Amino acid sequence: MTERNSVDAGWQKLGTALTHTGRAAPPEGGTYVNPPLERGSTVLFPSLKSMNRKGQERYDHASIYGAMGSPTQHELEKLIAHIEGGTDCQIVSSGLAACTTPLLAFLKAGDHCLLADSVYGPTRRFAENMLRRFGVEISYFPPCASRSEVEEYVQPNTRIIFTESPGSHTFEVQDVHMLADVAHQHGARLFLDNTWGFGIFAPFEHGVDVSIQALTKYPSGHSDVIAGAVTVADQASWHILRDASIQLGQLAGPDDCWLTLRGLRTMGVRLAQQARTALQVATWLQQRPEVAQVLHPALPDCPGHKFWKRDFTGAGSLFGVVLNTPYTRQNMERMVNAMSLFGIGASWGGYESLVLPTTGGITRNFGTEQPESPAFRLQIGLENTQDLIADLEQAFNALHHSASSA
Ligand SMILES: *Cc1c(COP(=O)(O)O)cnc(C)c1O
Repeated sequence: MTERNSVDAGWQKLGTALTHTGRAAPPEGGTYVNPPLERGSTVLFPSLKSMNRKGQERYDHASIYGAMGSPTQHELEKLIAHIEGGTDCQIVSSGLAACTTPLLAFLKAGDHCLLADSVYGPTRRFAENMLRRFGVEISYFPPCASRSEVEEYVQPNTRIIFTESPGSHTFEVQDVHMLADVAHQHGARLFLDNTWGFGIFAPFEHGVDVSIQALTKYPSGHSDVIAGAVTVADQASWHILRDASIQLGQLAGPDDCWLTLRGLRTMGVRLAQQARTALQVATWLQQRPEVAQVLHPALPDCPGHKFWKRDFTGAGSLFGVVLNTPYTRQNMERMVNAMSLFGIGASWGGYESLVLPTTGGITRNFGTEQPESPAFRLQIGLENTQDLIADLEQAFNALHHSASSA
């Protein structure tokens, strides 16, 4: 299989599971294709005995009280757990809450949490502020570190290694298998923010203990939902995660869960198309004289590309572009402003293309991974490839214009 083909193979394969998982056979009287949206706070029971009995089922995705999750949320939890390859999933209010909730669930004062230097910025901020305030030690390892280098950062009190693959903004693909091994040898758990790899990276087959998803991205897929998911694959972890989620009041509203369930049914075909277009655009960008590097995991230029080849069954539609040194940040900003099909805005994973400068938005302890020249990030949507390339081409003209007039 060529690399070009393999960016969409995993998405193609996922189609049947996404279409059929979690849908019961229709009853005698018939039913709609999609489950009803159920809103509620109070659940009424015929007797105290039945209410108390139901209260025992908090680990079983049962509907006990609205704050413990609606039936719509529980449907979504089952589908996410199935796609991630875990046993149980907890839906939470945002992708960020999917990072913070398990950190709060599994850490205590005096523990050490070791994070990849390239984790999502708000995850880093949470560790630096909240976790430190509660007495947790925080440090980072370089995202391209070898096994022996990572081991140098592990401490006797390390309880969690937290990684994200590929890394936020700088796209280093991680050797997740190695990280899981190191974590387990030292009595720690490996957390993975698997948002980019949802459906195309099987976290639990590589030793991950807790897998994190921003459902805001590909699963809901239409830029109109904020929600997150935390998936685990063993009962001990599930009980710790579920108890903490209830104590923190974590859930997502039924409307957001319903929209995400609907989005998931078409995610395979959306992403197969978006991944193909993204690789075509990335390959075109590689040929441009203005471009120093394209940080796309399926291209050999990307740090950790060999781990993408080894472990992923497809690619996403989000990648980085580093410009050559003669261009300044100001030149790049003029180029970004000149794009018309690429919206300027945060987030990614919707059906529309987006651009976001990453220069100035990256914090790293180990400076080496941070590009010196201006860089931006592209999210490729469902637009026609040639239209996107034409838009980038005319934006490069604005870059030249601003370079010569600067
Ligand atoms: C967007 C994102 C999040 C946070 O998701 P929100 O729903 O916006 O809070 C977490 N991790 C990664 C990798 C993301 O891209």
